[in-house]
Amino acid sequence: MYETAIKLLEKISNYGYIAYMVGGYPRDLYLKRTYTDIDICTDATPAELHQIFSEVVTTNSEYGSVTIVFEKVKFEITTFRKEIKYKDHRRPEKIEYVDTLEEDIKRRDFTINTLCIDKEGKQIDLIGARQDMDNKIIRTVNNPKISLKEDALRILRAIRFATTLNFTLDPKLKTYIKKYGHLLKRISKDRKKDELDLIFSSPNKAYGIQLLIDLKLTDHLEIPNLKKAKITPSMIVTWAELDALDKYNFNTIEKESIRKINEVKDKDLLDNHTLYNYGLYICTMAAELKDVDKKLLNEKYASLPIKSRLDIAISPIEICEILNKKAGSFLKPLLKDIEDKILDGHLHNDKDSITDYIIDEYKDQN
Ligand code: ATP
Ligand code: MG
Repeated sequence: MYETAIKLLEKISNYGYIAYMVGGYPRDLYLKRTYTDIDICTDATPAELHQIFSEVVTTNSEYGSVTIVFEKVKFEITTFRKEIKYKDHRRPEKIEYVDTLEEDIKRRDFTINTLCIDKEGKQIDLIGARQDMDNKIIRTVNNPKISLKEDALRILRAIRFATTLNFTLDPKLKTYIKKYGHLLKRISKDRKKDELDLIFSSPNKAYGIQLLIDLKLTDHLEIPNLKKAKITPSMIVTWAELDALDKYNFNTIEKESIRKINEVKDKDLLDNHTLYNYGLYICTMAAELKDVDKKLLNEKYASLPIKSRLDIAISPIEICEILNKKAGSFLKPLLKDIEDKILDGHLHNDKDSITDYIIDEYKDQN
């Protein structure tokens, strides 16, 4: 990845422009952490980048950035810019290209996100990113009073970085987070959820959740239940505890999981019927809330006589043959009965036993 990024910087440079890696990638490289995509800043405009690269995937000229996939690595390339006016405490109303890296750095959120790497692989640290990383501190590039008002999402980004990196928040930043927490109301739900997802899925989430509580953000984020939530490893379990289905947008799988976790959490998770009906994943999630031993849960699940209807050793067609009947509404309760008896251990899951049972219990009813 690094070599590919250097190649990309060299390519831009061959066209007479200057470019640097910036943001998350140099930060995570310095902190020896894993990273995903690479952010690049350059004095080339999106139109000029189009002429250099055939690999452009999307262009966001309004914000002066293009995304490209270069030798299988995803790059987000942003033209040096400053952001002029902010509307809604979130989006810059307009951007203006600037000539130098120095100016571009000034519009960024936190010092730790300002370390750059040039095409020679040299680190460029204009405002003490490395020092703040060494001191494990999150500090805004500009006065937090202005920075958070300009873009209130930075409140959550600050807490997200503090959580994932286990850094402290600069005291002045903390003060203004408390003061401007109410501005979060105006930020898009989806942007907030992205940050909350990252906080809730961090192994260090206890710290992040404590910050959200201490900085009095839970009401502004419409998740007051966070104060009494149990700290569990899974993001989805935390969301399930927050009663936030009507506050944020969840995808179908998330919605379904949240609903089922809440449904199953008051049931006996080690019961065969519960495990069978809800499946191992949902029960494992709910187990985090109830201190049920996951190993025991796994063993119990593995020893279920059947895990789905398809595991029942007789098919609906065979049942019809035994009873000499056409398929019909009688099948549903009959199958449920067989399923329950097998799960209760009252009936063996083999064809002969089930056949005998059906003849005994159902044949006479004809
Ligand atoms: P990661 O990708 O690991 O989440 P990142 O720091 O790369 O972290 P991105 O959202 O990819 O974050 O943004 C890239 C860079 O753009 C950041 O490092 C930061 O310099 C700048 N940036 C992102 N969001 C903001 C913002 N809301 N305000 C100011 N600068 C920002
Ligand atoms: Mg990034």
